[in-house]
Amino acid sequence: MNVHEYQAKELLAKFGVGIPAGIAALTVEEAVAAAKQLPGPLYVVKAQIHAGGRGKGKFKELPADAKGGVRLAKSIEEVETFAQEMLGNTLVTVQTGEAGKQVNRLYVTDGVDIAKEYYLSLVVDRGTGRVALIVSTEGGMDIEEVAHATPEKITTITIDPAQGFMPHHGRAVGFALGLSGDLNKQAAKIAQQLYTAFVALDCDMLEINPLVETKDGKLLVLDTKMSFDSNSLYRHPDVVALRDETEEDPAEIEASKYDLAYIKLDGDIGCMVNGAGLAMATMDIIKLNGMFPANFLDVGGGANKEKVTAAFKLILSDPAVKGILVNIFGGIMKCDIIAEGIVAAAKEVNLQVPLVVRLEGTNVQAGKDILANSGLPIVPANDLGDAAKKIVAEVQKVA
Ligand code: ADP
Ligand code: MG
Repeated sequence: MNVHEYQAKELLAKFGVGIPAGIAALTVEEAVAAAKQLPGPLYVVKAQIHAGGRGKGKFKELPADAKGGVRLAKSIEEVETFAQEMLGNTLVTVQTGEAGKQVNRLYVTDGVDIAKEYYLSLVVDRGTGRVALIVSTEGGMDIEEVAHATPEKITTITIDPAQGFMPHHGRAVGFALGLSGDLNKQAAKIAQQLYTAFVALDCDMLEINPLVETKDGKLLVLDTKMSFDSNSLYRHPDVVALRDETEEDPAEIEASKYDLAYIKLDGDIGCMVNGAGLAMATMDIIKLNGMFPANFLDVGGGANKEKVTAAFKLILSDPAVKGILVNIFGGIMKCDIIAEGIVAAAKEVNLQVPLVVRLEGTNVQAGKDILANSGLPIVPANDLGDAAKKIVAEVQKVA
């Protein structure tokens, strides 16, 4: 789950992290009122969407030479103008895709006199089983680009979660950023505060880009992106309350209601599988046979008729889907029960695309009989390879 910049900053402030003063606004009037509460004379009006690259982004409704979603205002009047131009309009950035995102919230913040911009982020590194702290002197830029062009400018420091953040980690951050004296101490402190916040909030990513050094020698978090491990949300009701569903994929919200793990992908074959490992293998084998999966979908161990129907509806709500491959292992849930669910769901949604089903496990023959006697044009498959070949052949036959 992701949150907006202003929400992430409010969370970080509780851990002592230095952020510029700022107030969120939903209307032009609120934006003006917010600016009046800030010291001035410089303000920054920032579009709040769940995507980065806002500064260099473009509004669809504004002239091509208009500025993007992060604008420096020199007066309250300018704050008002910028708020009018941004609210309700669609911002396109490198991270939103061509469709862009409608701006419904703004953050009006104190303009900072920047001496230098740095980069700092924390992510869960599954390779090492540790938290990786990534720092770079090249702040304010696209970090993927920096990693590609000048990888030597990125330093990764790994932190053992059992040991926690140690003073040497802080020194390594200051050193990597080329800081000395008081700034070096500030860098160590802010890195520790960010690590503490990351662990306490069960983040899976926390990115500060840029972390800035002000002209009067302070380190401040100017922009932040924060995402949370969804498996931990049950213990963070305060974080859940920050959820902005208008920013999320409607199909993924629908999936979460039925406790289905669904991720939309770019291909043509809809997949319904139980177990993440089997789902990954299914996607791989579709690709091996020359087509691409339209989604990742794990219906979980306790798949019942209701879940299977919801899953079918989700898959079919994607207009790109040209065929469906069901690959279910009946363990605790027996194959005949699953087959009944598939047949009922296929009838209920009035299935119009080819459907290949591979069942394996407890009561498999009874399950296959139910599919065969359903009167529906379900294509049975004997194993994973057979299933993938058949769905690709069926889709190509229709096309
Ligand atoms: P994004 O990464 O989405 O483009 P940022 O918040 O990083 O948005 O803003 C882009 C750039 O705008 C920053 O790199 C910084 O140079 C400038 N900027 C952002 N906030 C402020 C601020 N409060 N004061 C001065 N400059 C800012
Ligand atoms: Mg940024």
